[in-house]
Amino acid sequence: MLKAWREIPPTAGLPLHLRDLLPVRRGDFATQAARFLGVSRAGLECSGTACLIVILSALRRLSPRSKVIVPAYTCPLVALAIAHCGLKTVLCDLAPNSFDLDKTALAALCDQDTLAVIPTHLAGRVADVAGAAQIAHACGALVVEDAAQAFGARIHGESIGLMGDAGFFSFAAGKGLSLYEGGLWVARDPALAHAIARVSDEIVPVDWRMEWMRSLELCGYAAFYRPSSLNYVYGIPLRRGLRTGNLEEAVGDVFDPELPLHKVGRWRQAVGLRALKRLPGFQAETASQAQRRITQLAALPGVQVVADAVPNAQGVWPSLMVLLPDVQTRDAAMAELWGAGLGVTRMFIHALHDYAYLRPWVEQGDYPHARDFADRSLTISNSPWLDDADFERILTVLRRCCG
Ligand SMILES: *Cc1c(COP(=O)(O)O)cnc(C)c1O
Repeated sequence: MLKAWREIPPTAGLPLHLRDLLPVRRGDFATQAARFLGVSRAGLECSGTACLIVILSALRRLSPRSKVIVPAYTCPLVALAIAHCGLKTVLCDLAPNSFDLDKTALAALCDQDTLAVIPTHLAGRVADVAGAAQIAHACGALVVEDAAQAFGARIHGESIGLMGDAGFFSFAAGKGLSLYEGGLWVARDPALAHAIARVSDEIVPVDWRMEWMRSLELCGYAAFYRPSSLNYVYGIPLRRGLRTGNLEEAVGDVFDPELPLHKVGRWRQAVGLRALKRLPGFQAETASQAQRRITQLAALPGVQVVADAVPNAQGVWPSLMVLLPDVQTRDAAMAELWGAGLGVTRMFIHALHDYAYLRPWVEQGDYPHARDFADRSLTISNSPWLDDADFERILTVLRRCCG
């Protein structure tokens, strides 16, 4: 009976403890986060989007180039951040059956006006940044890794974010470690890191009103981020969106083009510092759960588990991303699973050119693999709250739909 009220979050966010919220101990979150990543320097901003804004603003001061190439299937905030900087979003199709950039398409797009290319580590899966960098660098463009969903992911034992020229992580609600909203940027070249830090100092103000709001929201996150209460803040709005057919609203794909920029206060940093101590254990637990469940999923005929785009990667596992044979099968599975409280959802509803509200900033074009990925993918939460019995229910539906 009680189980009927459980709502599993769509990703494995690190739950906060009430003692994380105590107003003691000072410390600099960016320094400790850099230590966790094993990088020499990192900067904290109010969101992943804000990180991208300060990175691109710094690049823009170094070059008159105006185009930024992004995967045609990614977070709409990326296009809004590019527009915020007065730059132009150029979409690149995905490789077939993959979340990663198609290298042939990328090579065709890169030219003398390309400022940056943004490979994206979607759902904790590691993208082929070296491959993208080879193409980008050949035309004089830089590589900015979107690691919003992959804080803690490594390749050859080193943090992602530094295989290219710069990168950023997100601490939004549900993206692993959370400050409710927050982000961390890194840059490989110390001179570039310095330039980004200088831009941040210049364009990011202190805003106590915003900080108060985010602090209250973080308290709300600590209180409600558990299966017994997520129904109220996540499940009910989701099911309302599904009922009214507003899928973009249901998954939270619609963002205000007015992007907030403000400094993150000391208290939220202290909350993050305490939570950060538990992150390695949590990531080890979710990684081993993911390994077991991927094996089970991969055994189902017709189900493809989306994997890292490169060997020797140690990604992180907020959710398990899978591709079904076609859109009808995916939709049939989602009809049973989406509103069921089991943490099954879709990542982004559309490829970027298919969002009506992004039309002012995103050109129309032909991106068949991105559309295909949007049509055939779904994500299964990798939260430890999704127990084996719940996961078995998901497997049963997938087996029936794909059979
Ligand atoms: C969430 C996300 C962002 C933006 O991060 P915020 O912290 O929400 O601003 C950018 N890219 C991807 C792929 C994301 O998932």
